[in-house]
Amino acid sequence: EQSLLQESDDEAKATGYHADATRVNKARFPTYVPGQTCANCKLYAPDGDKPSGGCALFYGKDVMAKGWCKAWVKPD
Ligand code: SF4
Repeated sequence: EQSLLQESDDEAKATGYHADATRVNKARFPTYVPGQTCANCKLYAPDGDKPSGGCALFYGKDVMAKGWCKAWVKPD
């Protein structure tokens, strides 16, 4: 288990990471499509049933399954 990425972290700000995707402002992040979350992003690595897991973008930090950032990648 790793420490959680915080929205105030530089790398989170740079990618528009939100711990809760439902709070993403569509005007500020036009690529956001409701329904997209870390849990259904190709870069997410679930940690069992935990509410957070790994992300290939953020080495050493966990992200919230219900989060989102603008690097969201459609799964194969
Ligand atoms: Fe979440 Fe995907 Fe962004 Fe990682 S790349 S923070 S899993 S949306």
